[in-house]
Amino acid sequence: MAHGVVWSGREISRAVVTGGAGFLGSHLCEQLLDRGVEVVCLDNFLTGSPGNVLHLMEHPAFRLVRCDVSDFVHVPGPVDLVLHFASPASPLDYLRMPIETLKVGSLGTLHTLGLAKDKDARYVLASTSEVYGDPLVHPQPEDYWGNVNPVGPRGVYDEAKRFSEALTTAYRTSQGIDTGIVRIFNTYGPRMRPDDGRAIPAFIGQALDGRPLTVAGDGSQTRSICYVDDTVRGILAMAFSTEAGPVNIGNPDELSMLRLAEWIVELTGSESPIGFIDLPVDDPKVRRPDTARAERLLGWRPEVSSEDGLRRTVAWFAARRGANARAG
Ligand code: NAD
Repeated sequence: MAHGVVWSGREISRAVVTGGAGFLGSHLCEQLLDRGVEVVCLDNFLTGSPGNVLHLMEHPAFRLVRCDVSDFVHVPGPVDLVLHFASPASPLDYLRMPIETLKVGSLGTLHTLGLAKDKDARYVLASTSEVYGDPLVHPQPEDYWGNVNPVGPRGVYDEAKRFSEALTTAYRTSQGIDTGIVRIFNTYGPRMRPDDGRAIPAFIGQALDGRPLTVAGDGSQTRSICYVDDTVRGILAMAFSTEAGPVNIGNPDELSMLRLAEWIVELTGSESPIGFIDLPVDDPKVRRPDTARAERLLGWRPEVSSEDGLRRTVAWFAARRGANARAG
């Protein structure tokens, strides 16, 4: 049964994870349970699925509650940690659901901060590298304010996250809540949805099918990709600290989208050609985290190489397709 984590004289025995049935949230629930923390997962399955936490359902310290955190949040009993991860996160999702995205970043953040206040719990907000927009500073340190177009299509996500950072900071400064902000950079790995529109699952699916890989623009735009195990370790290091952040959590290993596509073709042994499609509006040209703060404050740095992480992810997608095919 759960016994929890003791950190800075404080015991973390019970955590609430919003968006816990999503990609990152499900890994967080798993890791918290492994550390002996009881987990209440709140999710409305907008972009996540109960299937992501099916393997945890029999765990005596895990509870899944269907709930839209933009409406209200109510969790009976003590809570030591609130991780607010609910939000559509892939461009395909938030462009399709702009109002839901703005609501969960604003009202969802308000409600979950209220829960942390009520329970005297540590609070961690999942923010994003998208707060830097199309950056004019490279790599991006936390004290860079960003270059975001509030009325562009991506503004619904970027501004929701910027607002949620401001609200979290206000609860810390005016209400004395123990809050932390993590700015997560592109993360990949098992349990991403194959059709969520993000480049890695899209390229892997196309390569495994033998279809052309659809690289946006000329593929010279860069991203820095972090394997999920590293990201989750960084988030939990932040959760079990008293740091306010914001802290960048990402892998500084930067690569062009064209190189990423070529790499996935190699790793899958595919004969797919590479094709080019239009660049999305306001697509950032470069993206790389400055991780000095995470190293200094949390002693965290990514450990999984992109080659190893991509290999593991390709293997997971291939095994999943095999299982689906066998199931008919
Ligand atoms: P995801 O879509 O897989 O997970 C989000 C989860 O939130 C889903 O399970 C969804 O059903 C749930 N959700 C959405 N709205 C909700 C609501 N109103 N009430 C309750 N649940 C709701 O996305 P992800 O990649 O796991 O991202 C999780 C968090 O991390 C998001 O806040 C995202 O902005 C942030 N983030 C992720 C990345 C990344 O690379 N994956 C990068 C930066 C930031």
